[in-house]
Amino acid sequence: MLSYDIIIAGAGSMGVPLAMFLSEKKFKVLVLDKKASPGQGQNKCAIGGIRATHSDGSKIKTCLKSIEIFSTWKEINGDDIGWVQGGYFFPVYREKEEKILKDLLKVQKGFGLDINWIDQKEALSLVKGIRKDGLLGGTYSPKDGSASPLLSINAFYRKAMKNGASFIFNEKIGEIKHSGSSFIIKTEKSEYESKIFINAAGAHAKEISLMLGVDIPVKPDCHEAGITEPVEEFAKPMVVDIREGEKSKNYYFYQNFEGQIIFCMTPSPQIWGYDRRSTSEFLPEISRRMLRLAPILSNVKVRRVWRGLYPMTPDGFPIVEFDAGGMEGYVVAAGMCGQGFMLGPGLGWTLAEIMVGAKKKDDENIANFRLERNFSGQEKLK
Ligand SMILES: Cc1cc2nc3c(=O)[nH]c(=O)nc-3n(C[C@H](O)[C@H](O)[C@H](O)COP(=O)(O)OP(=O)(O)OC[C@H]3O[C@@H](n4cnc5c(N)ncnc54)[C@H](O)[C@@H]3O)c2cc1C
Repeated sequence: MLSYDIIIAGAGSMGVPLAMFLSEKKFKVLVLDKKASPGQGQNKCAIGGIRATHSDGSKIKTCLKSIEIFSTWKEINGDDIGWVQGGYFFPVYREKEEKILKDLLKVQKGFGLDINWIDQKEALSLVKGIRKDGLLGGTYSPKDGSASPLLSINAFYRKAMKNGASFIFNEKIGEIKHSGSSFIIKTEKSEYESKIFINAAGAHAKEISLMLGVDIPVKPDCHEAGITEPVEEFAKPMVVDIREGEKSKNYYFYQNFEGQIIFCMTPSPQIWGYDRRSTSEFLPEISRRMLRLAPILSNVKVRRVWRGLYPMTPDGFPIVEFDAGGMEGYVVAAGMCGQGFMLGPGLGWTLAEIMVGAKKKDDENIANFRLERNFSGQEKLK
């Protein structure tokens, strides 16, 4: 039986950067995935948004680390991952959203975020053609950005391989046994052994955790997205409209490094389950909302739409736990909700630092992600 220091379930947004940082620290790491290559779970469904603009200290700190990694990647490692530092802009048309965002601004500034309220004039210059009637301004965080999830995960994968990490694809984990001080992980084809087992199985993290008898509240929550043909630059930032629509909560869009507009929406009510077929409601609802906000987009052609799963927790925060369920060596890094792509590198770095003893298990980057919380809070910018 092949033996490793650490086995990670899942070569996704979380598992791959984590393997990269752990192998950099010289751990002997194996990543197992049932799909054929890295990022074929929910990573490739992400639209690529990366922000530290959150309502919670641990998310802010982790994503600041992620931004450092994404923004310096090309300079340090050479590959182009499509990083664009366009910022995030939350436009405001009503007093209700003005109050929510201005209240959050105090918290965000308290954590050292570079974010400010901008007036109508600045907002109009930030997004060409945004509707002027009633525009009160909005919050703008210039350091946030975007990158390609597929280019990024492949860059992290190559670096992890270079560091010595092993990856085995097309093998589904079907059984895990914890005997004494080690884990035996069984797939249809083989068995592997490790001292530490990390559950980074995304939307399937609950089923993996139950193999060890530890229940974790992670449920698949469907979200749809789409991409247009490339067009002339009209907006640098990700635009997030937090008003409710008829069949949606918030929606957001940005123009990527190739000029295409990528858009995504939070359906209302939420759609639970593993069904990945596109709905007939998504495109009409988001098109109506985007055109009301930015009529300039009326002739842009949509190339394709897709539907994926947020690995959702009841409060919208990830679950990061060492020795989960009291089982020594069992680590949960799951429940990334709608932000696993942006959290992955920052969390991967933090977990590796903890595992070599350079940081404590209650580090501020993960302090609010404990499994032993009551899940009654709510992330305000999910
Ligand atoms: C439409 C949409 C837009 C999004 N936009 C963004 C965004 O802009 N920014 C952002 O940060 N996030 C975004 N997200 C969220 C992001 O995609 C997820 O949070 C993230 O991909 C989850 O990462 P993960 O590593 O936990 O899961 P995944 O990336 O899904 O990785 C889990 C892996 O585990 C593997 N696996 C599962 N079960 C087993 C098993 N039994 N055996 C072996 N392997 C197994 C899977 O095959 C998969 O590869 C978006 C999601 C959707 C659906």
